[in-house]
Amino acid sequence: MRPLFRLEYAALSDLELNHEYWMRHALQLAKRAWEEGEVPVGAVLVHNNQVIGEGWNRPIGRHDPTAHAEIMALRQGGLVLQNYRLLDTILYVTLEPCVMCSGAMIHSRIGTVVYGARDEKTGAAGSLLDVLRHPGMNHQVNVMGGVLAPACSEMLSEFFRMRRQQKKRQKAESKLSGE
Ligand SMILES: [Zn+2]
Repeated sequence: MRPLFRLEYAALSDLELNHEYWMRHALQLAKRAWEEGEVPVGAVLVHNNQVIGEGWNRPIGRHDPTAHAEIMALRQGGLVLQNYRLLDTILYVTLEPCVMCSGAMIHSRIGTVVYGARDEKTGAAGSLLDVLRHPGMNHQVNVMGGVLAPACSEMLSEFFRMRRQQKKRQKAESKLSGE
């Protein structure tokens, strides 16, 4: 006989379900980056359970090395709140933030960052460095990682797989036309 409810759902608290809900929203934004040919990372800034900032990675298109998803979401959030301090907000991002974005989170005084996939190479929320919880930092950001991590990292590896194939094809084509 089938169980009346799925145990894994019963094990998740309302808060955890909420985190997954907003991470799905961030994943949708990451898709926009993909469509624009950028590395697919998305971020959403939430205040009182409402979206006040959305961002997706777009440094190439904007000729702007700071145009990471998190920075875009924080900038929009500041405009919405009309304040450079983004107190009591939660930032959801599909990939562990880098040093720059972690620094911006400290300056903005966000309460919590929730990320999806870990970034072993450049992650500054515990992987490469731990900027957000560095002792002596004047503001501590709560960090929660691993929310919908498989979906978040799958989108990134799928993107890089596609790009490698594209480059391979281009190489083969230019070889053909050169002959
Ligand atoms: Zn960043």
